[in-house]
Amino acid sequence: MQFTSHPRAFTEMRESMDAYEISPALQEQFTRCISFHTVTAPGLFIGVFMVDYAIELLGARHGEKLYAVAETYKCIPDPVQVMSGCTFGNHRLQVVPIGKFALTMNRPSEKKDIEGVRVYVDAEKLKQYRIINAWYTHSPGFDSATMIYPLIDEILKAGRDILSYQRVRVRVPLKNTWKSVKCNTCGEMVPDIALEEDHCKGCGSLSYYDVLS
Ligand SMILES: [Zn+2]
Repeated sequence: MQFTSHPRAFTEMRESMDAYEISPALQEQFTRCISFHTVTAPGLFIGVFMVDYAIELLGARHGEKLYAVAETYKCIPDPVQVMSGCTFGNHRLQVVPIGKFALTMNRPSEKKDIEGVRVYVDAEKLKQYRIINAWYTHSPGFDSATMIYPLIDEILKAGRDILSYQRVRVRVPLKNTWKSVKCNTCGEMVPDIALEEDHCKGCGSLSYYDVLS
């Protein structure tokens, strides 16, 4: 679901942010995240509050090297990448597709685990926010045609009020050693640890194209 990009809608969004005393610095993060995400999705807004909260709970400095795990591919990975510098490309963002709107962040560690913070949307707290609750629970009572702006407004009003957190011990993945080998089917190079039997996953279980030319 997307929020209209009509200029008036953005003006109303800014007015809501000012009314709910969202700091100029966080408003700037909203602008950057909307631009990166390309659409103004409700989940993105919640994600911005989640990442901001997680970074504050960690006591992290701006630009500090952090790691993140998002528990869904929906929305959360984008504010993580924009606001924390943990990206898919630098391997500091992972998605564990559990399907929960939750996020864990931690500092680097040479040990096998490290303390981190997990921020999640709290179902109990959501009950105080009728529109967010209807949208979040996929209720038939949520009408996206008429309720999208009231939803965004309620998310901005709620801020961290719908979130809870846990201090957690995060397991640090082991670094794999590997060597480059040739796939017996396509002939391209691939890390040996990514093989299935004698071929690459592109020629096996992860095949997604047929060569045309
Ligand atoms: Zn292959």
